[in-house]
Amino acid sequence: MIRLESYVYGRWIAGAARPSTLVNPATEAPLAEASSEGVDFAEVLAHGRNAGAALRSLGFGERAALLKSMAKTLHANREELLDLAQQNGGNTRGDAKFDVDGAIGTLSAYAVYGEDLAKRTGDRRFLLDGDFIQLARNPRFVGQHIYTTRPGVAVHINAFNFPAWGTFEKIAVSFLAGVPVITKPATATALVTWRCVQLLIESGALPAGSLQLICGSTGNLLSLLGPQDHLAFTGSNATGSMLRGTPGFATNGVRVTVEADSLNAAVCGPDVEIGGEVWSTMLRNVAQDLTQKTGQKCTAVRRVFLSGDHAEAFEEALTDALSGVVVGDPTTDGVTMGPVSTASQLRDARAGIDALAAGNRVALGGSAPIDGKNAPAGKGYYVRPTVIVGDNGKAHDLEVFGPVVSLLPYDGTAAGAAAGIGRGLGSLVSSFYADDRVWIGDVVAGAAPWLGRMLICGSKVADMATPPGLVLPSMVHGGPGRAGGGEELGGERGLLFYMQRTAVAGDRVVLSKTFGIGE
Ligand code: NAP
Repeated sequence: MIRLESYVYGRWIAGAARPSTLVNPATEAPLAEASSEGVDFAEVLAHGRNAGAALRSLGFGERAALLKSMAKTLHANREELLDLAQQNGGNTRGDAKFDVDGAIGTLSAYAVYGEDLAKRTGDRRFLLDGDFIQLARNPRFVGQHIYTTRPGVAVHINAFNFPAWGTFEKIAVSFLAGVPVITKPATATALVTWRCVQLLIESGALPAGSLQLICGSTGNLLSLLGPQDHLAFTGSNATGSMLRGTPGFATNGVRVTVEADSLNAAVCGPDVEIGGEVWSTMLRNVAQDLTQKTGQKCTAVRRVFLSGDHAEAFEEALTDALSGVVVGDPTTDGVTMGPVSTASQLRDARAGIDALAAGNRVALGGSAPIDGKNAPAGKGYYVRPTVIVGDNGKAHDLEVFGPVVSLLPYDGTAAGAAAGIGRGLGSLVSSFYADDRVWIGDVVAGAAPWLGRMLICGSKVADMATPPGLVLPSMVHGGPGRAGGGEELGGERGLLFYMQRTAVAGDRVVLSKTFGIGE
């Protein structure tokens, strides 16, 4: 069995004891084991902090070249990584590509941002925020806001569902900002992350100490973090909330960003023509979110708001679209949806379906056990694609992390739509299908405060709009409230989490020279 070692203080360390076992969720066959017991986390932190100087000393252009070479290494080993994602994640090949290509694409995108920054900043390693502000009657005394790289480490803790993309969307941003990373994948699906890090270390491209990997628990690492360190967490709201309370975080001012649960919604505007192009795009997006990664995407639509005649027509069209889904071992020809990733996800998904369905109607699927195609009888973590109709209140409160969606009534008004979005208490993304500009204006004003991202899909863009479940490096990812209140990506915006904004006041001539800008 493969032993996942941690890569810390410049060497690979196999945990001493009590390893967790990683399995193939399609068959429950053991694949690997991992433990970080015996890792000295004070040394991990010291190594990262010392190494930080090397990464920080690189200009934006050199950091961009580093990201480009990382993308190249992963791309050169893409087939192997896709295989591992299929084995350890229960991914179909398409799901595996979504994860692995997402990692490569985000590294490449941040390489381009780095090249662009290098062109604009020259030798400068910090960013300017706005222009000079005149602070006195005499224009000689001015203020300028700047961002400098914080000389600490970034601890990245990731969820089980995107072991490649989740890991490297964080690393790409952190590296471009100049901050070394200690990354920890969710243990159950760590195989892909471990192999990616192994390939990158072997490539020799990484500055010493810039990337450390913890396979297993983070031990006492978080309690050792200080005022220049960062924690970027992705996972459940429960874990995120608990980690925010880590002793020392408040007193040391450790910077924390949390990407957590999300009750994303799709809203059908009352002007949408049943069977028209906008309708078809909405149907395709909802069906895709339900089945892609077996519904285990933080951005997947969980709630669909429908009014009037749309309700019955959408239920019929969606159940029809999902009737051909083949659930089974994703390495089998013809299988279009794999299992959920872990035994506890299976348990939670089944219990969640029952909670959503209580007093409502199950139009498709349900929580009853099923065997997957070509999987040993009774083995594997399979769930049926499930559509629930009706609102018992639970859909606004419980994220069922699986192939499940609730169809909910609303009154068709923008105010009704915004109120429905708000009942989720903060989400990563929601999509709005409509052409009526007044309705759109009102819905944006009412719903945006509850959302990190909005897709407004009308007839002019229905054939080109990227699906709401797709996180783009250029757009911010994160959401308020239940979604954790965090923000990642968004092009250069993502770098700011790892940098300190300082307001500098002084002599215009001196500051111009210091910051390398024209007076
Ligand atoms: P989870 O159980 O909260 O675990 C997330 C991560 O936290 C894992 O790496 C886990 O490690 C680690 N962890 C747990 N307890 C810890 C502790 N005491 N100290 C340090 N690390 C700890 O979440 P999950 O089941 O992996 O992921 C599912 C959830 O993630 C869903 O709710 C989903 O919505 C959310 N998610 C959100 C986003 C987003 O961008 N907003 C993206 C993906 C997923 P172990 O595996 O070793 O326990």
